[in-house]
Amino acid sequence: MTPTFTRFTLAYISRRFLSTTACRLSKKVAVVGAGPSGFYTSLNLLKDNDPSLQIDMFERNPCPFGLVRYGVAPDHPEVKNCQERFQDTRKDERFKYYGNVTVGIDLKLKELYDNYDIVVYAYGSNKENKLGIPGEDDHPGIINSKAFVGWYNGSPEYKDLDPPLDKVKSVVIIGNGNVAIDIARVLLAPIESHWKMTDISRHAIEQLRKSKVEKVTIVARKGFLESKFTNKEFKELFELYKEGVYFGGWPKQKFVTLQDLKLGRVDKRRLSLVNKYKGLLEKENAGGKTPRRVWYLDYLKSPIGFKVNRADPELLEEVIFRDNSIKIERIPNTRSYRSIITPTEGFSSINCQLVIPSIGYKCKPLPEFKKLGIPFDEKKGVIPNVDGKVIGRNDSYCVGWVANGSRGNINSTVMTSGLLAEIIQEQLNAKNNNIDKPGRKVTEELLGKRNVNVVNWDDWTTIEAFEKMKGKESGKPMEKVTDFKEMLNICK
Ligand SMILES: Cc1cc2nc3c(=O)[nH]c(=O)nc-3n(C[C@H](O)[C@H](O)[C@H](O)COP(=O)(O)OP(=O)(O)OC[C@H]3O[C@@H](n4cnc5c(N)ncnc54)[C@H](O)[C@@H]3O)c2cc1C
Repeated sequence: MTPTFTRFTLAYISRRFLSTTACRLSKKVAVVGAGPSGFYTSLNLLKDNDPSLQIDMFERNPCPFGLVRYGVAPDHPEVKNCQERFQDTRKDERFKYYGNVTVGIDLKLKELYDNYDIVVYAYGSNKENKLGIPGEDDHPGIINSKAFVGWYNGSPEYKDLDPPLDKVKSVVIIGNGNVAIDIARVLLAPIESHWKMTDISRHAIEQLRKSKVEKVTIVARKGFLESKFTNKEFKELFELYKEGVYFGGWPKQKFVTLQDLKLGRVDKRRLSLVNKYKGLLEKENAGGKTPRRVWYLDYLKSPIGFKVNRADPELLEEVIFRDNSIKIERIPNTRSYRSIITPTEGFSSINCQLVIPSIGYKCKPLPEFKKLGIPFDEKKGVIPNVDGKVIGRNDSYCVGWVANGSRGNINSTVMTSGLLAEIIQEQLNAKNNNIDKPGRKVTEELLGKRNVNVVNWDDWTTIEAFEKMKGKESGKPMEKVTDFKEMLNICK
């Protein structure tokens, strides 16, 4: 018998024993959400070979992986590689995946607390931030980034979005984080050389083929130094010149002093990227070529309204801004600068048919939080916590975007979930779990009588194999199933 076999056999026998004794002796952890933060926390907890540990992960979608599946851009397959790591949980019998189970609806939060030692909130963000401008929710010429990203990533929620790209020449993206850059790439990069071989949704490819988009302007309220994108993503956009997409320019006159500042490494690099690529379009033009697709940066503009296109009410005519002024000053005793942004009396507009606000996501509390005394900071959109431990609770933890706000990349969840797992382990080991809890139910028992089609790991494997098989037919890594009902049909 190999040591691994012995370990797993013992773990199996002890689990069988535990399940026949109403979960006596088991340390039960419920993880709400199957995004990167939920998976990394689970993987870190499983590192400790404690056979009495049992992790049940609940995910509202049939499919796991959260924003790795429905957020990360299709041309970033290297980022999505973490999914392979998450699948390692499959090998551990102490871990169970319950897909298609919405906590708060299919399974009440109170039931989790009654039946688990610890609840870990890893449910990410569930809403997009709003501009607060009348009409932004009900005009087809204004599509928020969450919807647009979900649409090209094959999220069933947005599969019927149908953005009118066949009629749009100019798009304004409001906000300048990495999501805005992703969206600009999707709108501008050519299908054949860039998107065809990715896992972008089939309906997006079809619509992008008909696209008339020639110009994309990324607009921000603040200044260049406050740009939210990372230099890596910024460079990626410039590099699209190799595929015929050029940087058209930026309002340099607004930032004349930048060259004279002693900028830090990141800002210096950012400025050097603009300087490096800014002449390429002129060169093309001088050579008699007129690139069809060009992107621009704009700053110091706060959107205040939209003008609808009279000829085609499905489209916009322009977006109207209040202009802001900027004063850059050094923060005393540091090498950093701060920009003081002030609204002016000036207004401006950009001609466009489509606006995509991309100003971040927001986390919301789960329905039973108030009743159960789970705190939530509505303003920050987070569960108040110290190193992931929910303030005022001994049995609750949070991780990822719902713990830190909807910012930060997957790597940051790797670090925080490692630390969190240690804290949870300490608590589980300190807690006296050797008391019989006769009322405690196993999850199948809880869900059994309800009309919930639970998707387990084997079911997900079937769906995933189907997606890969479909992808192979069209030379893509996968063709995502864009209907949750169809997913359930495939695996049942
Ligand atoms: C458009 C976009 C592009 C991005 N690109 C990158 C990138 O290129 N590289 C990078 O490193 N990071 C990227 N990120 C950031 C990265 O996606 C996040 O850091 C990460 O996904 C946060 O993980 P999370 O687990 O906290 O949340 P999520 O990934 O949102 O996962 C939360 C999960 O919880 C589930 N859930 C919600 N409510 C419930 C409920 N009531 N019951 C059960 N389940 C529930 C959700 O369905 C979801 O699956 C991107 C983000 C966005 C929005």
